[in-house]
Amino acid sequence: MNWNTILIRYGEMSLKGKNKSKFVRKLKENIKAALQELTTLTMRAERDRMFLYTDRPEELERAIAILPTVFGIQSFSPIATCEPTLEAIKTTALEVIANGETKGKTFKVDVKRTDKSFPLVTGELQQELGGHVLRAFPELIVKMKKPEILLHVEIQSNAAYISSRSIKGAGGMPVGSNGHSLLLLSGGIDSPVAGYLMMKRGVSFDAIHFASPPFTSDLAKQKVEDIVKQLTKFGATIRLHIIPFTELQQAIVQQVPSNLTMTTTRRMMMQIADRVREETNALGLITGESLGQVASQTLESLTAINEVTSTPVLRPLIAMDKLEIIQIAEAIETYSISIRPYEDCCTVFTPSSSKTKPQVEKVRYYESFQNFEEMIEEAVSKRITTIPSKQKDDEFNDLL
Ligand code: ATP
Ligand code: MG
Repeated sequence: MNWNTILIRYGEMSLKGKNKSKFVRKLKENIKAALQELTTLTMRAERDRMFLYTDRPEELERAIAILPTVFGIQSFSPIATCEPTLEAIKTTALEVIANGETKGKTFKVDVKRTDKSFPLVTGELQQELGGHVLRAFPELIVKMKKPEILLHVEIQSNAAYISSRSIKGAGGMPVGSNGHSLLLLSGGIDSPVAGYLMMKRGVSFDAIHFASPPFTSDLAKQKVEDIVKQLTKFGATIRLHIIPFTELQQAIVQQVPSNLTMTTTRRMMMQIADRVREETNALGLITGESLGQVASQTLESLTAINEVTSTPVLRPLIAMDKLEIIQIAEAIETYSISIRPYEDCCTVFTPSSSKTKPQVEKVRYYESFQNFEEMIEEAVSKRITTIPSKQKDDEFNDLL
């Protein structure tokens, strides 16, 4: 027997035409990048499925460990290949079954015969193989609908392919297949989850973080870098832009009454982010806002914040409960980083009583006393851009 192939099934099967070919091309690229450490691996992509090949069992195992983190894969199966003869297929089928747990499991054989010259027809083959497996593993229980072990045999003219396991993929769409955006990343619990969900939807992004040293510490910056590193594991290189925000925040506190400083702060963040977005050829902005969570996240507040840009603002958490968000944050392992206790620029400068229904006219009026435009330009030009890269010793297992 030769365990040397992995069959990959795509998500989003309803995609058509150019979208489909873009999906497949991007998925191939992303799998290649995720598995770049595997030197013997080769790939073949078809319209509806993809094959990975390697002759090294340890590389096959490593691929099986990493593939569940790659978006765009619905499921995948390790496959054994053998000669397309009845004897070889029978022997290999037993080895494939022996590779997993059999005790008390339900079972069915499913044969696909692409080589019509094979001496037995599909029904005969199914019976022959089923009987053979049951004699070797009498503990298996035959079940036609939704068996736990589906022994799948595909016979082609030059080889037979046998599998019994289907492993769940991450679903979603390949990162980068739905354009590039800019994530406003605070270091809190929500925005990393927002980034993750957009990645799952095929969006790649740069991240932007507003820091107010010396009021916010180096550890707060480190925290954001660590979150970026963690998000990088889901398939994209993420550039991080750190914006010096202290002067602007001080000016806001001076010019704007305290119950509106939050609104103005967010409007300034949006304008800066929008310019960085333009300079980085990104199409949308992503935030971790969730309706009603805090004063700045009412519909009135969102209206006042949104007024400064016509760029699409993607808010994947808008309808989610905090508990649902925390669950995802834990699963993607950003939660423990997010709860490190370092002050965010907003916590430092923002008073506790923010208006839940800010009036745009008032906000504009107070902002008119200061040349914020110049300060925005300066903050954009003084940004520091890095790529907090993937840590080498990271484990990809149990990420999802
Ligand atoms: P988070 O958990 O993401 O910090 P939050 O519930 O604390 O969100 P807010 O502080 O109101 O909510 O922030 C709303 C959104 O604004 C954040 O999700 C993030 O996208 C953006 N944001 C807030 N502060 C910053 C910051 N310092 N740098 C970059 N983006 C920020
Ligand atoms: Mg926050």
